[in-house]
Amino acid sequence: MGQRITATGESGLGDTTLDPGCIFCLILSGKIPATVVRETGRTFAFRDIAPQAPTHVLIIPKTHAYPNAAELAAGDPELAAELLREAGAAAAAEGLAENGYRIVFNTGDHAGQTVYHVHLHLLGGDPLGRFGTPAEQ
Ligand code: AMP
Repeated sequence: MGQRITATGESGLGDTTLDPGCIFCLILSGKIPATVVRETGRTFAFRDIAPQAPTHVLIIPKTHAYPNAAELAAGDPELAAELLREAGAAAAAEGLAENGYRIVFNTGDHAGQTVYHVHLHLLGGDPLGRFGTPAEQ
């Protein structure tokens, strides 16, 4: 695990744990750019750099403390609920609510997780293909 730094969250909730080796923490600290979709005191939503659907938004907590959804839900259930609420709000704002959308938490290598700072994928804008098929060898 990389060195940890702390940054003050905008919510006034006190220090938020960030990891300078984490790409999402670098976005949160403004060191690399992102296209912002929504923001709350504890969450941040931005466009995926390699979209897998016409609309592909990532929603993350402003803390590096939780690598995946299960650990987030166990450690801070209210924050887990806020991520889901923000996904719904972003879906509505992006015009996805009527026709539907998918929310995904990849967890671990077999799911293709590449960033171990919990994040929710919001995907929509066209009918989506099936998921859960084995990766191509
Ligand atoms: P996962 O594979 O579930 O860990 O998802 C990580 C996601 O982060 C991928 O969909 C990437 O395309 C996305 N991503 C990586 N770097 C950036 C970045 N700088 N800005 C926006 N999205 C990114």
